Amino acid sequence: MPPVNRTPAPVDDATHVVIIGAGFGGLACAAALGSTNIRVTVIDRNNYHLFVPLLYQVATAALSPADIAQPIRRILSRHPNINVVLGEVVGVDRAAKAVTLADGSVVPYDRLVIATGSSYNYFGHDEWAEVAPGLKTIENARRLRARLLSCFEQAEISEDPARQAALMTAVVVGGGPTGVEMAGAIAELARYTLARDFRRIDPRATRILLVEAGPRILGTFPDELAGYARRALERLGVEVMTGKAVERIEEGAVTIAGRIVPAGTIIWGAGVTASPAGRWLGVETDRAGRIRVAPDLSVPGLDGVYALGDTAMAEGDDGKPLPGLAQVAKQQGEHLGRALEAGIARGAAMPAFRFRNRGNTAIIGRSAAVFDFGHRRLKGWFAWILWAIVHVYLLVGFEKRLLVSLQWLWRYMTYERGARLITADVAQGRTPERPEERETPGARPVPMRRRTSG
Ligand SMILES: Cc1cc2nc3c(=O)[nH]c(=O)nc-3n(C[C@H](O)[C@H](O)[C@H](O)COP(=O)(O)OP(=O)(O)OC[C@H]3O[C@@H](n4cnc5c(N)ncnc54)[C@H](O)[C@@H]3O)c2cc1C
Repeated sequence: MPPVNRTPAPVDDATHVVIIGAGFGGLACAAALGSTNIRVTVIDRNNYHLFVPLLYQVATAALSPADIAQPIRRILSRHPNINVVLGEVVGVDRAAKAVTLADGSVVPYDRLVIATGSSYNYFGHDEWAEVAPGLKTIENARRLRARLLSCFEQAEISEDPARQAALMTAVVVGGGPTGVEMAGAIAELARYTLARDFRRIDPRATRILLVEAGPRILGTFPDELAGYARRALERLGVEVMTGKAVERIEEGAVTIAGRIVPAGTIIWGAGVTASPAGRWLGVETDRAGRIRVAPDLSVPGLDGVYALGDTAMAEGDDGKPLPGLAQVAKQQGEHLGRALEAGIARGAAMPAFRFRNRGNTAIIGRSAAVFDFGHRRLKGWFAWILWAIVHVYLLVGFEKRLLVSLQWLWRYMTYERGARLITADVAQGRTPERPEERETPGARPVPMRRRTSG
């Protein structure tokens, strides 16, 4: 066993930096402050850091949850000045300069970094969350995986063709990167992996609908790449419906532009809203609930409070809000960590953050992805290889990188998906009373705002 270093860190107690959230932004900020003599506390409601961009691979049985999550304590263990606290933050006392946790305990701060991310926005229909989960947590991914796989199992034993068809229909709401990735992955799961494993049903007949209210999918990508993604999805058998609003979602059915479509699996990827951190602080937020921050990521009017990542609204060089992307959160975290260190140690002024676009990407499926670098665009096989390299590189920990690379290689050669386990508690095969597709007279569209990130 390697020796364990329990030597107390030589920290300077004069300044205590508290970071809420160990996602991409919070963790990068903590790492930049690591191994300094500044006392740092990282608080997260989970004991692990989650690599959210690969969650869809857990939901479609390509990877296991442990492949894309790593204990926060383990990641930060080599920095003796960082203390990790497992707890849910429920408020911030601005006057007392303290963070309140759900168990009633209080953590005082001198500098506060808020990096609590975002959650899905159901545009006033929170009741849809139960039947159409988004993809933000490991629980979401496990539930979706269980639901998808259970639907095939139920269809296999059903004697009713209409019910079978309903169970073998998946509707993905939202044509952003998450929706595109999810629709492509379900198509590959059904057409390649499951195709040989059932006797009574043919999984290749699975119907996958990708519904987008806007005029095209991948709205934040250039036309050329969005068009390529659409064609690649259609080649996989996905029905791409653009300019169609989802009006209603209930257990086992979605109403799309006046048509009720029975569906065993419904997935939400249509929009996000920031964490409630703006409410904790009582400060101005934008329509997506993001805290408006100054160029140096500080929260205007609050001394020593900063926000970054999905929960902050920062502007790029062009004056437009920066997108909700992992690379934005990571770069902001690194910048803020370094700036805080220089400020605390040497009294340096806080410099402005500048985002460097390392490329916006989405994967459609095997050998098909898009990459937009602004000045340069890539699509197809090269983009796919680059996507894989970037995502493996960004995974925390050598062990994960190796494991995930090997699994992808194996899957590429065999079309197999090893994590086909039904482990979450899902309602077995609940489909609508009348599982036939039909028109609904007088249905009214729900106005859908465009996604702001992710
Ligand atoms: C399905 C999906 C796919 C995506 N794919 C990509 C992609 O390919 N490329 C890309 O760049 N971006 C992608 N994104 C967006 C990217 O994941 C986010 O922009 C990024 O995670 C934001 O980082 P963050 O640090 O702000 O928040 P997060 O990474 O979400 O971290 C927030 C952390 O705060 C913790 N937390 C939240 N509330 C509390 C609380 N009250 N108390 C304590 N802890 C709390 C959470 O547990 C979490 O650890 C994707 C997003 C989704 C949902």
